Amino acid sequence: MVGGHGPERSNGAESYDPVPMTARILVVEDDDTIGDGLVRTLVGQGWAVERAVTGADALTQAEKVAYDLVLLDLGLPDLDGVEVCRKLKSAVPGATVVMLTARTEEIDVVVGLDAGADDYLTKPFRLAELLARVRAHLRRLAPDELGGRRCVTVGDVSIDLSARRAWREERELELRPKEFDLLAYLVDGAGVALRREQIMSDVWDEHWWGSTKTLDIHISALRRKLGETEVDNSRIATIRGVGYRFEGRPVAGQ
Ligand code: CA
Repeated sequence: MVGGHGPERSNGAESYDPVPMTARILVVEDDDTIGDGLVRTLVGQGWAVERAVTGADALTQAEKVAYDLVLLDLGLPDLDGVEVCRKLKSAVPGATVVMLTARTEEIDVVVGLDAGADDYLTKPFRLAELLARVRAHLRRLAPDELGGRRCVTVGDVSIDLSARRAWREERELELRPKEFDLLAYLVDGAGVALRREQIMSDVWDEHWWGSTKTLDIHISALRRKLGETEVDNSRIATIRGVGYRFEGRPVAGQ
């Protein structure tokens, strides 16, 4: 069991908490109010959190510690956040960088190839939103469980990620490769509102400004194959203005 917390299930199955509790996070923020608040919140989740107040500090610390995730303020006193991001990504290739910016006009630069950030949040943001994003990113970094075999069940939908097979109740679903990828992504993030841009970039490897028409088509196909209708779509919820959420809580299966 990863994490060692959460309720044990009465049927003996391990509770499913794919976010590594030992995740190492670096908060790069010169504003003490924001920086301290972020550190407190993240430490409260059980993660190992450190803070840097300048870009130079961030790069020095990143040379010593292999951070899993870096929350990086775009407006730093010494170096430009975009430059810091670029250097961080080459120093710690495995690190996920989430940019924090008040400069909405720079989002293209931040998330585009220029800086290579994985995600961004515009200030002011809600801590709940930040935590949801951080958890979603860390979940993808979690090591394979169950001896490398990963099976996840949410409600009546089960997925064997290793075998790339999916079932609703006892019936196996016939899914195209991208439909499987999308369903696996949604199920793995069950209970979390996933942004359209994030889904696109994670499942299709496209930049967030890419067409999301493809996503809608695949969601429709999944709903149909899951036996859902326009009025009865209890599994994949549409979150207006945000994206989608697979309803339920995942448990490890098999
Ligand atoms: Ca700042």
